[in-house]
Amino acid sequence: MEYLTLNNGVKMPMAGVGVFMMSPAEAEASVESALRSGVRLVDTANGYMNESGTGRGIKKSGVPREEIFLVSKLWPTVYEKETAVEETLQRLGTDYLDLLFLHQPTDNWREGYKNIEKAYKEGKVKAIGLSNFPEELLKEAMETMEIKPHVVQVEAHPYYPQTELKKMLKDTGMGLMAWFPLGHGDKNLVNEPVFTRLAEKYGKSNAQIILRWHIQSGDVIFPGSKNPDHIRDNFDIFDFALTDEEMAEIATLDKGVRYYESTPEMLQQYATMELQPDL
Ligand code: NAD
Repeated sequence: MEYLTLNNGVKMPMAGVGVFMMSPAEAEASVESALRSGVRLVDTANGYMNESGTGRGIKKSGVPREEIFLVSKLWPTVYEKETAVEETLQRLGTDYLDLLFLHQPTDNWREGYKNIEKAYKEGKVKAIGLSNFPEELLKEAMETMEIKPHVVQVEAHPYYPQTELKKMLKDTGMGLMAWFPLGHGDKNLVNEPVFTRLAEKYGKSNAQIILRWHIQSGDVIFPGSKNPDHIRDNFDIFDFALTDEEMAEIATLDKGVRYYESTPEMLQQYATMELQPDL
């Protein structure tokens, strides 16, 4: 495993598993399988409505809590709720998080930020971050908030490597967690000829080549999978390295294309989408 040291000194594993679009039972199975395979970073969110299942997967794995880097995200409708962090901890069956994000840049994010800052000061979360925030709001947070964000979580993959954002992160020391690291499984991306060629060269799968490219680009990855073989493979990327020429060749795939484009209407919807009970 390789680690990223955050700008507050916290050490974060660079590869883990995410449980987006999984039922609580699926998240439970995926997290248990991942932890048993050696994965030590788990990413969930209030909005995935599977934190309870994620917590059960952690318990069932038998891996001690302190060995796991646990990440969650507050949903906009609870940003201003005083008990939002405590309720997140309860669902996950833990008394602290390693990293807590605000999930979306809705209008009430500044109030939400106060909530996660408070949790940070109380030691309930070891690091805080902003997910899906545009650069201007990241800058505002850096300039105006008491505790500077430690990590951003954004869509990133070879078709959209976040080159501009990374320049800003370099100056501030913020880490980047790449969501959709495999382009949400897009076959066009995964089967790009360069990945097939490098997969043959290194005796790895195309997905492993993409994930290795992320690690060497400085991205923390947490691909989603319900398949135990894929979960294990996605973590088995630390025994080889791409050359500078190969990294440069992959950089030419940048199309400036995202799979997800946020709109003001979508943000409005997020601001009112009530969470369903997560059992
Ligand atoms: P991904 O890019 O990780 O792709 C997942 C897809 O790739 C799945 O269909 C899976 O079956 C397939 N796959 C996984 N491993 C594979 C392998 N070794 N070989 C071949 N196929 C493989 O997309 P994702 O799972 O949607 O995103 C990853 C994580 O990012 C999520 O679980 C979630 O935690 C996070 N996320 C965050 C946000 C956000 O707003 N912050 C948004 C979306 C996702």
